[in-house]
Amino acid sequence: MSAPMQGEMQPSIYRFRLGGFEVATILDGKSMREGLHPAFGGNASAEEVHALARANNIDTNRFEHPYIPTLLNTGKQLILFDTGNGTLVNEYEQMKGRLPQGQLVSHLATADYKPEDVDVIVTTHGHPDHIGGLTSAGKPVFANARYVFGAAEFDFWKRGEGVSEARKFNRELFMKICVPLADRSTFIKPGDEVVPGVHAIDAAGHSPGLMAFHIESEGKRFVVTADTSTHFAMAVQRPDWYFAMDDDKDKAVASRKRILDMLASEKLFFAAFHFPFPGIGYVEKSAGGYRWIAHGYQLNL
Ligand SMILES: [Zn+2]
Repeated sequence: MSAPMQGEMQPSIYRFRLGGFEVATILDGKSMREGLHPAFGGNASAEEVHALARANNIDTNRFEHPYIPTLLNTGKQLILFDTGNGTLVNEYEQMKGRLPQGQLVSHLATADYKPEDVDVIVTTHGHPDHIGGLTSAGKPVFANARYVFGAAEFDFWKRGEGVSEARKFNRELFMKICVPLADRSTFIKPGDEVVPGVHAIDAAGHSPGLMAFHIESEGKRFVVTADTSTHFAMAVQRPDWYFAMDDDKDKAVASRKRILDMLASEKLFFAAFHFPFPGIGYVEKSAGGYRWIAHGYQLNL
C-alpha cells in the first residue's frame, strides 16, 4: 500500500542562544501573493523585476510573504517584537483573503511559552500584520505584558493627519487595538533602551516611525529589522526599488540602504519579519545592492 500524502510540514520556531540571551523567531503565518511586480520595483520595469526573480530562481509572479515575530528572553524578561496577524481575518471583513489567521500563540505554546509569560511587547510599527495579535475581540492577548511603542509611530496614527487613503482602515485598526493600551505603554524614540541590551534604531519610511532593534549580550549582537527590507532578494539586491506597502517610498529606500549598510559593514546577524522562515541571516555587499545569506549554523556554535 502506498503512503498517503500528508501535506506540507515546515518549521515554525527557531530558537538559538545569543550570549546570555535566548532569541526565537516564530512563524505567525504566511500569505501567497500575486504580482511580484509592481509589489516590488514599482519604480523599475516589470522586465527588470522578472529578470531578477529568474536570477534568484523564484517565480516571476507569485511570492510568499511570511510573518515572523521575534521573541527574546534576557533571563530577566520575555520580550516579544510584534504580534503578527492575530484574529483580524475573523473580525474584519476588510482583512478577508489578505492576511492569514495568526498562529503565534499556538506556536508559542509549542515552544513552551504561555501568552501570560510575555513581559514586554515591542511594536516595531502600526501596520496590521504587526499589531493584529495584540488583542482578540477587544481583549489583550498577553495579559501580563506592558507595551512599548515608538512615540512618532503612535502619535502619527493617533493624530490621524496625513493618513493615505490606502491606510485609512489601518488607522481604524490602530485606534481600536493600540490606543486603548496607552496607559500600559512606554513611548520611545530611536536610541532609547527598551531593556538592558536592547536599543531602538530609526528605520522610518516603511511606516512613519518604524523602528529596528539592536540586541547585544556578552558581545554577541543581533538586529530585529522588522520591515526595513521586505523581500530576501528584491529588497536586498535592489534596495532602491520601491515596495508598494512602504508609506514613504523614498524615505524607506534611504532607511533600507542605511540599515543594510550597517548590517553588511558590521557583519551583523539579523531577523527580517517577511523573509523566508526562520528569517535569520546576514548580508554582504554585492553589485546593485546586497546579497542575503541565510543563517547556516553560526549562531548555534
Ligand atoms: Zn509587515
